[in-house]
Amino acid sequence: MTKVELNELFQKAVNHIRRSGDKSAILTHFYRTKPKRYFDAIRIKGCGVMRKYIKNLGGDPASSLNRNIRGLFFSAHLDASTLAPPPQSPYGDERLHIPVPLMMNIDTNLYFADFYCHISSHRVTLVITHRYSASDFFCQQRLIQLNVLCNPFLTLPLSGEYAEVTMGVKVEVFYTEDVDIGNLIWRFPSSVFFTRVKMNKDNNFNRAVLITSIGFSKKDGCTVCNLKKHLKSRK
Ligand SMILES: [Zn+2]
Repeated sequence: MTKVELNELFQKAVNHIRRSGDKSAILTHFYRTKPKRYFDAIRIKGCGVMRKYIKNLGGDPASSLNRNIRGLFFSAHLDASTLAPPPQSPYGDERLHIPVPLMMNIDTNLYFADFYCHISSHRVTLVITHRYSASDFFCQQRLIQLNVLCNPFLTLPLSGEYAEVTMGVKVEVFYTEDVDIGNLIWRFPSSVFFTRVKMNKDNNFNRAVLITSIGFSKKDGCTVCNLKKHLKSRK
């Protein structure tokens, strides 16, 4: 996807958020939901370190991230009625919560990478990189860098203790570093933690792993999030 096309996608995401009322909420933690077996393997065999892996084919099939960059997906989505992470997930039954400032701070950059929908809800993918890392350089060439103090999706006020996230789309964050969970829990025992969640009905470990490895692909023909040229080619 060219930068011009990505700009069109960015504008579509902004328009969608405006149409949905432009509300935001306070986000204290990013979270990552996986089957308990996934986290157990990290605890037992992985020395507590969650290793980044190559980005799957989820989202827009033309996204420059797909199969090109390593990272870990976290969510910044909050349930509109509780303003907390949703109690259910298709990704698994255990959830790791990490305070926003440990992943997003003055040493990181934020990029807009994708806008897509799966079934009915629209999502944006943002990328958090460590400044001057190889991933940061990759994203600078191909993605749209966001001002962390002022953008339509996810902002970090000057206090830096929490973020504000839009409620107009589901925001997912691709974090391009390994996460040493053991070390984080040792250093921040009261603020880095796990919770149990209900895995969506009809899901199981194998399906959750499959969703992670393939990703949710973009819904074909949606006029809200597909580029004009893709919609034209379908006519
Ligand atoms: Zn859509």
